[in-house]
Amino acid sequence: MLDTPTSNQSPLLADLWDAAHAATLSEPERLLYRSNLLGSDKRITNYGGGNTSSKIRMADPLTGELVDVLWVKGSGGDIGSMKLDGFATLYLDKLHALAKRYTGEEMEDAMVDLYPHTTFNLNPRATSIDTPLHGFLPARYVDHVHPDAVIAIAASADSRKITEEVWGGEIGWLPWRRPGFELGMWLKKFAEENPTAKGVVLEAHGLFTWGDSEEECYKRTVGSINKAIAWLADKSGGKPVFGGVKVPAADAATRRAVASAVMPVIRGLISEGTRKLGHFDDQPAVLDFVGSNDLDKLAPLGTSCPDHFLRTKIAPLVLPFDPATETVADLLPRLAPAIEAYRAGYAAYYERCKRPNSPAMRDPNAVVYLIPGIGMITFAGDKATARIAGEFYVNAINVMRGADTVSTYRGLPEQEAFDIEYWLLEEAKLQRMPKPKSLAGRVALVTGGAGGIGLATARRLAGEGACVVICDIDQTALAVADAALAKAFGRDVIAAFPVDVTKEETVVALFHEAAAAFGGLDILVSNAGIASSAAIEDTTLALWQRNMDILSTGYFLVSREAFKLLKAQNRGGSIVFIASKNGLVASPGASAYCTAKASEIQLARCLALEGAPHGIRVNVVNPDAVLRGSKIWSGEWRAQRAEAYKVDEGGLEEVYRQRSMLKLSVYPEDIAEGVYFFAADLSSKSTGNILNVDAGHAPSFTR
Ligand code: NAD
Repeated sequence: MLDTPTSNQSPLLADLWDAAHAATLSEPERLLYRSNLLGSDKRITNYGGGNTSSKIRMADPLTGELVDVLWVKGSGGDIGSMKLDGFATLYLDKLHALAKRYTGEEMEDAMVDLYPHTTFNLNPRATSIDTPLHGFLPARYVDHVHPDAVIAIAASADSRKITEEVWGGEIGWLPWRRPGFELGMWLKKFAEENPTAKGVVLEAHGLFTWGDSEEECYKRTVGSINKAIAWLADKSGGKPVFGGVKVPAADAATRRAVASAVMPVIRGLISEGTRKLGHFDDQPAVLDFVGSNDLDKLAPLGTSCPDHFLRTKIAPLVLPFDPATETVADLLPRLAPAIEAYRAGYAAYYERCKRPNSPAMRDPNAVVYLIPGIGMITFAGDKATARIAGEFYVNAINVMRGADTVSTYRGLPEQEAFDIEYWLLEEAKLQRMPKPKSLAGRVALVTGGAGGIGLATARRLAGEGACVVICDIDQTALAVADAALAKAFGRDVIAAFPVDVTKEETVVALFHEAAAAFGGLDILVSNAGIASSAAIEDTTLALWQRNMDILSTGYFLVSREAFKLLKAQNRGGSIVFIASKNGLVASPGASAYCTAKASEIQLARCLALEGAPHGIRVNVVNPDAVLRGSKIWSGEWRAQRAEAYKVDEGGLEEVYRQRSMLKLSVYPEDIAEGVYFFAADLSSKSTGNILNVDAGHAPSFTR
């Protein structure tokens, strides 16, 4: 057990500005350089949070005359990773002219529709709602970021007083106001009334800083944040973090084991409409918070910065637990009632705060689940969003840590939070989201995923939006396949674990890892396999046993563990066996292989019967003669088959093509297509079936 809270001393931010490099860049490139530098440190701003701008004199493409153009981060995007095309460009004088159209707060949303009229140079990047906050400040260079240390001050009960104490008159203070045209007017007025100010803290939200050069602006942002970090460290030195430890953290293995047991159950309970994907985080900052005396006091207050709670919902769900005195068996029965109560609380919040034109209530389930001693689990419709929600909650924890030690932390007032969550502009953004792919929100596990058919299957399922766990005994090939899949589909959605499907304990561990990686399982493709041939009298017991172990026992072990996970999750599932036509049709000289493959098919039928009451479908795809990409066909087996057909190895593919009824070769992608059919809802009414993908082979016709 660990029980030492981590230190609340934060190191200062480094000044990374490289003046020599900056001098080689154009003005827009320098803006990008400044933005990427600021966004590279999550202590400066959270993912996707904050925006940066420069007012640049450029030739107007219409007249050739020099005009002032506002370059400001456009809608969406992240200053740490954005490129030049992420900036919106607006004629500054036209943007300023909009102030004449603005008659008051009731025009706030309508103003957003006017921004495209100010677009410079036909730039297609949509403008963000933060645009007026930059455009009406007179300084040429403006940064707006969400640093944890500054929000800690901004979210304190006495944030105005602390702002004065930390920055003197250099950085001013404005009360909470949601971003939009009105806040732009407030900032303009503030700058006019305080011409010597270098920035402003926005209550509950973040920091604005400005300068007369790119470098001055960057250095002022970093310097202002460092003042906050140093002040917080000074004030909180020696004080216990979050009121001290209440529940010490369990060891890392226990934490992961508990997470892997509860995640599928939570996932099942909250995936009523769309399936969710999970992310587990047990970094020290999280463990300090979830195991603290102040957890019950702080968690319900919710997050403050609008960026934070849009991702995390206003409050997390705390699941009471003490790993020192309880086991996961004590925790599991608490999940359903706690989730039910959270949903009821969310519905009540919606009813209390809704306006006549509010969009309908969205998913009432929590995004963030906190378990004392164990860590934080986040769920969202896709894996990256679940991970990022976790990152945002860590930002929120850092904010609460700072605010709680130096003052009293204050979340955003409920109605303000609601108005942002159900802002019609946010709703419009949601409505514009593309339709999800057919396997979005699903988790698939493919055994033998580094082999020919396994890798093609992983690609097919990931291409349809599934998160994919590949596993294989061949660790070198597994690493190559993992890297290729991550490159094609993104690191978030691919996981790889070495496994020998004949070893019970490694198979059990594999399913725990899969549950902790993505929150559960929907699709199992049992595919790991070999091929062998030998006349019966030459079939050694070892060869016979090897076929039985990998094909028969291996398929049994992974199915058994998949059943346990799918039943815990209670959302059905699809199991697909890659068997072989040799499971249906006897072949001379391959009795061990054929018998083991036949046992796979019979096992699939038994499991189809057992799985049906739970919505678990079990089907079989039978490949035949898939030479390309298959390791089975690269060794001894290929040589033996070539000899049997009296051709050289290069001629073997043609032999099989000619042997097929359709005179076609069968490729790994063809098998993957069959798997996809059984994995997806396309086949939701099929179980216990066999699909031959063999270009036609009459003896394999099923009856
Ligand atoms: P492959 O050799 O390219 O892939 C099989 C993968 O399984 C390999 O990466 C291998 O390392 C892995 N594996 C083997 N033993 C394992 C173990 N104990 N634990 C974990 N992983 C293990 O072959 P493939 O052609 O892609 O075959 C995939 C499946 O299709 C096999 O079950 C095979 O019997 C079946 N099949 C293939 C063909 C064909 O013509 N290729 C025909 C009928 C059936």
